[in-house]
Amino acid sequence: MNEIRETVILGSGCSGLTAAIYTGRAGLKPLVLEGHEPGGQLSMTTLVENFPGWPEGIQGPELISNMKQQAAKFGAEFKTAHLHNADLSSNPIKLETSAGEILTRTLIIASGASARWLGLESEKALVGHGVSSCATCDGFFFRDQEIAVVGGGDSAMEEALFLTRFASKVTLLHRRDAFRASKIMIDRVHEHPKIEVRTNTAVDEVLGVEEKSVKGLKLKDTKTGATCEIPVSGLFLGIGHNPNATMFAGQMDLDEDGYIKTQGNVICTHNGTPIPGVFASGDVQDRRYRQAITAAGTGCMAALEVEKYLESLGH
Ligand code: NAP
Repeated sequence: MNEIRETVILGSGCSGLTAAIYTGRAGLKPLVLEGHEPGGQLSMTTLVENFPGWPEGIQGPELISNMKQQAAKFGAEFKTAHLHNADLSSNPIKLETSAGEILTRTLIIASGASARWLGLESEKALVGHGVSSCATCDGFFFRDQEIAVVGGGDSAMEEALFLTRFASKVTLLHRRDAFRASKIMIDRVHEHPKIEVRTNTAVDEVLGVEEKSVKGLKLKDTKTGATCEIPVSGLFLGIGHNPNATMFAGQMDLDEDGYIKTQGNVICTHNGTPIPGVFASGDVQDRRYRQAITAAGTGCMAALEVEKYLESLGH
């Protein structure tokens, strides 16, 4: 007979690990399922300057590694497993994963969000051959080369600035002329001598499919429709993320972009009614703030709700 866990946490990013620290410390022996992006977005970032408690900033991967150690210290277990199917209405909750069936009284969904792509055929053909969504993973390969970054939010600004360490020139392409990024990041980008900013510009095609490596970009002016080509050997996408919640569609309320709708930030619902024992935290339920500290905050809240729920069941 399969063991019934007190709590399972789906996702090992900042939010899932915070939930693991709290539920671990409460003696619930959480099982953390790590998927295809262990450590979440922070493990792919560089310096985190706005996480309270680190006046000099801390590297994202180090912050995650510290959190993981802290969770393990309080008894959290970690397993690499992909969730294929979940039955949220069964009691206990049934999870079909690549590591077998898992039964649990409570579930914290902290599955985060994954990088978005432009959706061009040529982009798809060149992923891993000059097209990337992770500057920290792949920037190193573009030493002294000219590259481009797409996006107008903080991610794109951060990527463009980071990539100046390697590239000889970074062209930042944004489809509008107003940015979503914070002023401090926009100013840094505009002031950087290696960065050229091109607004009202969309990528129409990535050139180099036949050569199997990026040779340039065909760009389109979004106002006039005029096209031109620029030579670059790398293209980095910084255009945001999609929430990893599609596997729960039909069993819980999601908003029009697929984010989990919650009550009180972390309580999952189906047709507006709370689903017993199921909570969500971090970027998968947060389309507004999406910060490391808010992800950690809702991870803590979900953990406290799990404790309360189990207490109400007499566990
Ligand atoms: P975001 O703020 O949603 O920005 C995404 C950008 O990509 C937007 O400018 C958007 O253009 C553009 N975009 C989206 N789809 C596109 C497409 N198909 N083609 C071309 N452009 C497209 O996402 P984000 O930059 O990843 O930031 C997410 C959150 O994390 C934000 O709250 C941000 O502040 C936060 N963040 C913070 C830091 C930091 O504090 N250091 C670092 C990274 C992220 P439009 O503007 O035209 O929609």
